[in-house]
Amino acid sequence: MRMTYPDPNSRSAQLSRRAQQVYPGGTTRGQTYYAPYPIYVEHAEGCRVTDVDGDARIDFLNNYTVQFFGHSHPDIVAAVQAQAARGMCFTMPSELDIELAEMIIGRAASFEHLRFANTGTEAVMHAIKGARAYTGKPKIAKCEGVYHGAYDFAEVSLDSNPQVWGQDRPQSVGHTHGVPDGVTSDVVILPFNDVAASERILEQNVDDLAGVLFDVVPSRCGGIPASSDYIKMLKAFTRAHDRVLILDEVVTWRLDHGGAQTLYGVEPDMTTLGKVIGGGMPIGAVAGREEIMRVFDSSAGKALCSHSGTFAGNPVTMAAGIAAMKLLTPEAVTRLNGLGERARAGLREAFRLADIDGQVTGEGSLVLIHFSSEPLGDYRATWRAHTDRRAEMLEDLFHRLLNRGILFSTWGLGCLSTPMGELEVDHLIEAVLASLQEMKLESEKEMVS
Ligand code: PMP
Repeated sequence: MRMTYPDPNSRSAQLSRRAQQVYPGGTTRGQTYYAPYPIYVEHAEGCRVTDVDGDARIDFLNNYTVQFFGHSHPDIVAAVQAQAARGMCFTMPSELDIELAEMIIGRAASFEHLRFANTGTEAVMHAIKGARAYTGKPKIAKCEGVYHGAYDFAEVSLDSNPQVWGQDRPQSVGHTHGVPDGVTSDVVILPFNDVAASERILEQNVDDLAGVLFDVVPSRCGGIPASSDYIKMLKAFTRAHDRVLILDEVVTWRLDHGGAQTLYGVEPDMTTLGKVIGGGMPIGAVAGREEIMRVFDSSAGKALCSHSGTFAGNPVTMAAGIAAMKLLTPEAVTRLNGLGERARAGLREAFRLADIDGQVTGEGSLVLIHFSSEPLGDYRATWRAHTDRRAEMLEDLFHRLLNRGILFSTWGLGCLSTPMGELEVDHLIEAVLASLQEMKLESEKEMVS
C-alpha cells in the first residue's frame, strides 16, 4: 500500500476534524499533535503500529521512549490481563508493589527506599518537595532548557531564548504564561556542562538551596552526556553542603541495567523514574537514600513531606512493571544499545551520502538527528543549531518518513525497542537517506528557479 500523508479524505484526517470539536488545539496531549493532523492509531504489535487507515509503520518513537519492549509484549499483556481480572485498584497495598520496588531497588546502589507515583512529572514533583522537606530550604537548581515534566518549578527556563536568557548567567524564566513570581524566584538556573559558572551560581545560592535537579543526557542539550567534571562538581557541591542531588532518569534509565547513573557514575541522593519501569502503563517513582526518603514516612503521624495518590502503586501497573523488569535484562539492554550504535552510524553515513549538513547524537538506544554540524553540548548551542529553518527541515523529514513506513518524532528524537533487529534499523537508515536525497534535490531545484 502506498502511504499518502497528508490525505484530507483519510480516516485520520476525519478523526482529527472530530477531535477539533472537543479539544483545544484538537488534541488531548500536546506531544501527539502535528500539522496538518496526527495519524490515529488502530493497534500495534511488536515494533509495528497500524493506523486507522490500515497503514503499518515501524515505531521509532515508542510513546516517547516508554516502550522498550515494543507494543503488546505477550508477558506484559498476560500480566495486565490477569491482574485486571483480579482487581484494578484497591485502598489496600498488594504484594505486587513490594515486588516491583524490590526489583528496582536491586539495580542501583543509590536506591535504598522508593515510592511510586503515576507519571514522571509526579515523580519529579515529589522529589523536589522531598528535597525541600529534607533541607528545609525552598530553592531548586536545574539546567537551562532541560525538560523534567510539567511541575511549574521543573519547567522554569524550559524554552529560554536570547531575548530572555540573560548575558553572562542564565535567567529564571517562567514557562507557562502567568506563572507566579514565587516559582521563578525559587528556581536557580545553571548552564549545562559549564563547571565554573554552575559552581559559582550554586555557591551564591547555597543558603536557600534544597538541591539540584539534573538529567545527565538531556535531549534538549543535544543528547550528549554531561562531562565527568560537571558530574563531579555537582556531586562534590551537594555532598559538601548536604543538599540533595536529584537525578532525573525518567528517560535515561533505558540506557543501562541500573540506569545512566551506573554508566556515568552519578551517585545521586534521589532518582526520579518513569516510562520503562511501567511496561507501558502510567508510572513514576522516586528512589533514593533512606535518610532522605524518610521525609515521606507518615507511619508515626504527619510526614515532613506528604506523599500519596489514589493510583500510586496500583496493582495493574505494578503487574506490568514486574513483567517489564523481568524482560529488562543486561543482555536486552546491551543488544538494544548495539542496535542504537548501528542506527547512529548508518544515519551519519546517510547525511554524508546525501551531502546535507547534519549530525546524529544520542546514547544507547536513543537517537537524535540535527540539521546542523555545529558543536552541541549545552542548551544554547542546541538552541542555535535548531533555527526555524532547521526545525522545519526536521518536520519535513518526519513527514517523508511517515510515507516510507517509519514513525519518528517531529523534532529529531527517535528510539529503539527490543522487537527490532538490524532489518528495522536498516530500513530506518534507508528511509532517512532516501528522504534526505529528495530534500537535497528539491532544495537545489528551488535555488535554480
Ligand atoms: N523527566 C524527563 C527527563 C522526561 O523526558 C519526562 C517526559 N518525557 C518527564 C520527566 C515527565 O514524565 P511524564 O510525561 O511521565 O510526566
